[in-house]
Amino acid sequence: MKHYWDDTTVYSQPDASELRKKASDSIKAAQKKGRKYEPIVARTQRGALCESWWGQAWCSNLERYADYASRLDRGKRYVRSGAVVDLQIRNQIVEARVQGRRKTPYKVEIRIGRLSEENCQKIISRCNKKIESMEALIRGQFPEELKDIFTEKDGLFPSPQEISFGCSCPDWALMCKHVAAVMYAIGIRFDENPFYFFELRGIDVERFIDVALENRVEQMLKNADCKSSRILDTADVSSLFGVL
Ligand SMILES: [Zn+2]
Repeated sequence: MKHYWDDTTVYSQPDASELRKKASDSIKAAQKKGRKYEPIVARTQRGALCESWWGQAWCSNLERYADYASRLDRGKRYVRSGAVVDLQIRNQIVEARVQGRRKTPYKVEIRIGRLSEENCQKIISRCNKKIESMEALIRGQFPEELKDIFTEKDGLFPSPQEISFGCSCPDWALMCKHVAAVMYAIGIRFDENPFYFFELRGIDVERFIDVALENRVEQMLKNADCKSSRILDTADVSSLFGVL
């Protein structure tokens, strides 16, 4: 009897060399049509996919959610096989194309919620005392002193409620491997340029640091006011006792 579900065809996955070949054909085909894909190139073949703090923190954030944990892993193999043939980040939207078994890559879209005003203010006020390290952000460096503030709950990284996704394949509802691949691939983009992270969360880095600086100056002025009134008090007391 012939089975309706044929496990060998339904669940088998293309192997890495097949994916790599098809991905390369898709990139060439896009070029011929005048489209420029920006493929994701994984630099590691085992262990952590990402090299930078931003990339690794992005992946660890995804992996800590039980909803994602069981589904994400199959995305890694796709990324390492070069299946993410294009990935663009604009505002809070990631648009990507992922090579699967069929000739044309699947279209994946992932939307990340903008960091809420409330959480943004909380982070800014916690960063206040570490303003020098925040300035390192503008120079494109990673401020080690801020990592706990960035990665704590309600920190900079999005929770599953703030992430929505879709894929043009028939299996996307429960996070298909194409979406999983793009989730990881985003981390590799952050390795190349961590400013994409801020773009994705709708944070204007310069404004973020300006607000933190202004708050800091305000705090310093308040402290200075307290000090100068204490000095005056002392002077008044001295004059009372005729001491110059
Ligand atoms: Zn899919």
